[in-house]
Amino acid sequence: MSKADNIERLKNAILEDYPRLTEDDTFTFACHDKVKCFNSCCADVNIFLTPYDVLRMKNRLGISSQEFIDRYTILPIDKNMQFPVVIFKLLENDEKNCQLVDREKGCTIYEDRPWACRMYPVGLASPKEKTSDCDAACKASQPAEDFYFLMKEEGCLGFGEKKEWTVREWIENQGVTEYDEFGRLYKEITLHEFFQSGREFTPEQMENFFICCYNLDKFRSLIFNSSFFDRFRVDEELKAKLETDDEELLRFAFRWVRFSLFGEKTLDVIAKSDETGETNQ
Ligand code: SF4
Ligand code: SF4
Repeated sequence: MSKADNIERLKNAILEDYPRLTEDDTFTFACHDKVKCFNSCCADVNIFLTPYDVLRMKNRLGISSQEFIDRYTILPIDKNMQFPVVIFKLLENDEKNCQLVDREKGCTIYEDRPWACRMYPVGLASPKEKTSDCDAACKASQPAEDFYFLMKEEGCLGFGEKKEWTVREWIENQGVTEYDEFGRLYKEITLHEFFQSGREFTPEQMENFFICCYNLDKFRSLIFNSSFFDRFRVDEELKAKLETDDEELLRFAFRWVRFSLFGEKTLDVIAKSDETGETNQ
């Protein structure tokens, strides 16, 4: 069974079988360097990377988005995928360790670790996300709202600790709220009507989507080394920020995805008459 099939099966199992939690539900858990299993979960694991994860991680590592993609990601290809999915690439040793774990100290990019690493052992499911073997009747039977669930990795001793959390407390404690804005913006794209109605990207649109969301340095180069700013009205203050501020650039890239791939009016096109100084009268 391929990696993509495994991912799809897990998504379906979570939607159908896992107990659902609200932000007020509680669980007991603690993770620290005294637990015997310390770091064991930073191996042999599927970690999906969001566009904001990649932004934070590549900047933490001081490398370009292209270098990050080449060294730290794999892109599973599956005919059922509606948009590119990016998975963190593990070492090719027997343990399949994370490339960024230190056996003694733990995560070497802790303050910028990906969303999924922050959230564990809490997961967040979005029933609206299409799964390949969920037909219209199946989707209609699922609740529309997102829900939390607990993941219990085999051998994780954190559940034996006494510390009690609500889901809300855990999320705040792990710095997940810093990721909320970009999570919401990305979800507006991945749950867009375009996909819900069953439409599909062409290979070229797939590539464009990937560049906008994951290869920010390339996106920056494309807009600054073309006639982009002659064709779209972008105020000077924002344009200056786009040159250096990756978070602003990612917000802008999401707007471009919505404009160029979904046909939304998220950008202001400069009419020919504006460019020449002529009026329409
Ligand atoms: S990024 Fe950090 S927390 Fe996540 S698996 Fe790697 S070492 Fe562990
Ligand atoms: S397995 Fe669980 S308790 Fe052990 S290090 Fe990982 S998250 Fe912490």
